[in-house]
Amino acid sequence: MIKPMEFAMDCKKEKNLERCNCSYDPCARKGICCECLSYHLKMRELPGCCFPKDAEATYDRSFDHFARLVQTKKI
Ligand code: SF4
Repeated sequence: MIKPMEFAMDCKKEKNLERCNCSYDPCARKGICCECLSYHLKMRELPGCCFPKDAEATYDRSFDHFARLVQTKKI
């Protein structure tokens, strides 16, 4: 039987934190991008890093907010 290829991938949390723009400091998912993305997608949202600084600071991470920013050419 052929086994699926197994590999271990180290989390790049420290490296990710260097470029994470999320201003919600108490979040335990900061720097763990896979968990961050999964958490927000479940709620029809995007991670803070998809938004410019002023939009990120509103904590409105909804698809609708993102779409409005695209439509008004702010992204
Ligand atoms: S974007 Fe959301 S899940 Fe990701 S670090 Fe910020 S608050 Fe946490």
